[in-house]
Amino acid sequence: MGSPRAAVLRFAGLMERKLVVNDGVKPGWRTESDEFLLRRLRDEVEELAQALIGDVDRDVTSEAADVSNIAMMLADKRMPSLGDRGHER
Ligand SMILES: [Mg+2]
Repeated sequence: MGSPRAAVLRFAGLMERKLVVNDGVKPGWRTESDEFLLRRLRDEVEELAQALIGDVDRDVTSEAADVSNIAMMLADKRMPSLGDRGHER
């Protein structure tokens, strides 16, 4: 597999910026239940739907990053640990 495509890197940067906001505020997602994360994912999907209705690009990209971060958390819980620096700061 080659380098991630530019669109993926750009979006990953947005996801990371959204995660940084919660550094030191929320515990790491690995201790959260699947049920809690799935509920949050559904909430974020609804926020994305509302953002699409509002049709403001910044809101849509922000909510898309929120959806992706929660989905990433559910997947990350099932992948080998990357150590403290891998999941939270
Ligand atoms: Mg949101």
